[in-house]
Amino acid sequence: MKRTVFAVALNHPSQTAAWDAAFHAPPYQALPKTPVWFIKPRNTHRANHQAIALPSGEQTYSGGTLAVVIGRRARKVSEAHAQEYIAGFALANELSLAEESFYRPAIQAKCRDGFCPLGEAAPLEDAYHLDIITEVNGVEKQRWNTRELHRSAPQLVAALSEFATLEPGDVILLGTPQQRVPVNEGDDVTVRAAGLTPLVSHFRHDAPAQTQPQAHPTLFALGLNYADHASELDFKAPDSPLVFIKAPNTLTGDNAVSVRPDGVDYMHYECELVVVIGKTARNVRREDALDYVAGYTVCNDYAVRDYLENYYRPNLRVKSRDTLTPLLPTVVAREQVPDAQNLALQTFINGELRQSGNTRDMVFDVPYLVSWLSEFMTLQPGDMIATGTPKGLADVRPGDEVVVEIEGVGRLTNRIVSEQQYEESLNEKN
Ligand code: CA
Repeated sequence: MKRTVFAVALNHPSQTAAWDAAFHAPPYQALPKTPVWFIKPRNTHRANHQAIALPSGEQTYSGGTLAVVIGRRARKVSEAHAQEYIAGFALANELSLAEESFYRPAIQAKCRDGFCPLGEAAPLEDAYHLDIITEVNGVEKQRWNTRELHRSAPQLVAALSEFATLEPGDVILLGTPQQRVPVNEGDDVTVRAAGLTPLVSHFRHDAPAQTQPQAHPTLFALGLNYADHASELDFKAPDSPLVFIKAPNTLTGDNAVSVRPDGVDYMHYECELVVVIGKTARNVRREDALDYVAGYTVCNDYAVRDYLENYYRPNLRVKSRDTLTPLLPTVVAREQVPDAQNLALQTFINGELRQSGNTRDMVFDVPYLVSWLSEFMTLQPGDMIATGTPKGLADVRPGDEVVVEIEGVGRLTNRIVSEQQYEESLNEKN
């Protein structure tokens, strides 16, 4: 059983209150309308009682919280029925550096190695009036109650499963108060709640690296990584990589279908070169970075722009919907691709060329991206980086055949279907 750890930000009133004035000003302009999701990837996962190494030169904060553990496949589940899909609860620690913005995905603050220890799951009679207590070296530092949360566990299961199918073992972290608990080298941190095994983490500089076979490989994606595409969207190219993480629910294969949601105005394709990591990479120098690349493949990183809000942008509702990331399963070995920074990219809709670019126009090239990510997190074999798309986007409609192709790497075919067509195809399978 492979698990995905979803988390929700801004779910505690102390947090939304602290940011309220800022959220009415640029770049946010308005309060979030839907839950602000993010992912804690596999390098962050730790079990109970494991040691965690703190990043040096930065203050780390503990975020004791409750995790909902999914018990069976949940797709478009209503709030009223959500309880039937919950196997139990566990304690978790959503560790983070200080957050100075909610505009861009907070990869550097939240995805450090070991930043998501998770305890053992158990059923709870009442998860909705539960004190979550954090102790540092045996002294209580924080206490809050799950009844304070803006959205309850069933509401979050409903909101997430509306666009992402949840699998048994997947978890959702329910959020933390604005005020977090600083943790320092040598601390033992315990998160407790009645009815659950306490979650104990030891913060030690010599903590060993951990691999997490029960977690999915991490799929990173780049926003605005081609200068021409950034200008097409009225953005200046970013001065550091804009990286977000996509969950495995969004992946599909070659010759598969992708669903265009009903009632949206703009869903577009994105032809992207995908880097596949071949060996564990931590603090890799740019000049050595290609040694850590196993090879390359192609994806189509669809986006539904109607769902864009100015929080952790682009958010999971835009970028991690079921079926919206077709990925070619074959990986072309690095040795077969002499220069990954000189490959033609093309997208065809119904046979007509609509997008054309070259990987030489990437703002941050492959060696830079591998090196940059490995500065603050461990990349593991099988992790993937979708490196962004050039200009030439267009709306796609049910019935369209979309082909993305990268010179020397591969060609991926996909067909757009409506929600109704998709439901019918699922019913036929069952
Ligand atoms: Ca993209």
